[in-house]
Amino acid sequence: MSVPSRREDLVDLEGYHSASVDVEVRLNTNESPFPPPPAFVTALQSALAEGALNRYPDRAALELRRAIAHYEGVSVEEIFCGSGSNEVLECLLLAFGGSGRTALVFEPTYALHGHISRITQTSLTRRQRGSDFALDPTQVAKDVIEVQPSLTFLCSPNNPTGNAESNDVVHSALEAGDGLIIVDEAYGQFSSESAQELRGGENAERLVIVKTFSKTWALAGVRLGYAIGDPEVIAACEAVALPYHLSSLTQMAGILALAHVDEMDERVREITKERLRVSEAMSTMALRLWPSEANFILFKPSDRSGHDVWERLVERSVLIRDCSSWSGLEDCLRVTIGTANENDRFLKALEEVL
Ligand code: PMP
Repeated sequence: MSVPSRREDLVDLEGYHSASVDVEVRLNTNESPFPPPPAFVTALQSALAEGALNRYPDRAALELRRAIAHYEGVSVEEIFCGSGSNEVLECLLLAFGGSGRTALVFEPTYALHGHISRITQTSLTRRQRGSDFALDPTQVAKDVIEVQPSLTFLCSPNNPTGNAESNDVVHSALEAGDGLIIVDEAYGQFSSESAQELRGGENAERLVIVKTFSKTWALAGVRLGYAIGDPEVIAACEAVALPYHLSSLTQMAGILALAHVDEMDERVREITKERLRVSEAMSTMALRLWPSEANFILFKPSDRSGHDVWERLVERSVLIRDCSSWSGLEDCLRVTIGTANENDRFLKALEEVL
């Protein structure tokens, strides 16, 4: 007896993971270092006590989508919710990608764009960013014309490089082709730039903006993300999503989070302030640092191997992301901005190691 063979095209596929090491300071997965506001937790507990968990959740997640639509200033038909923005990306690929279709990515970028493309049998074309990682609108237009992708992924601010994409790049991609342009704004609230400004403009029916409650909203454990897009695109995502994919608990948490916007925004301001302090401290060390508009910073030690520095930080109980083996990121490391205390621990350890 043996287990049936896997899909041939996925035999070498490894699951997406980040090193899991038992340390005191975890700055490797870009989560919020702060728990959600206490008033939100209390409200969630009461909602949970009243919620009918024996029943299936609202399949259309209407109340949640209405709350998000109100927050974003769009209509409910323009919002699709998923269990984390990863599920939203998966639904977009299921609906608009697949066999015989192509997705275009600009690397280095968020690995899941390519990973889910592969799982959904969407062929993947990779273009490489330059050394400052910024995209050039003219080059992006050329790439879109050449590749004719059904989906083009932009990520702003880009994970793991931290730079925000200018709206000229998004505009240029929209003009050049006829596929979807997906702007992943998982870290959007840390940045001053958003593709939202292009909504309502020319070709905007092909623009999809994807956001998450995981980073700025301090709710990575809840698993909630959403897409803002044309009602036809949203309906196509609904059609491929599994029934009841969004649990009652997730829906409750999302609705209540939107009643605590001010406290959530305060967390974003705190992290943005800390990002500046950490960048300034790092700029005096023997490393190259890329400017960041997100809640993480990419850097490269000047005269040490990236992996070696990563290991020595782990020895000091500080875990960051080792990107040194990723294409275009030789010797690079990425640190998530934590609490002031965690950031101090990181800075002290890094100074010792370098
Ligand atoms: N997009 C980007 C760019 C990310 O970095 C992440 C998380 N690492 C996600 C999407 C997925 O976030 P989630 O599924 O938690 O919403």
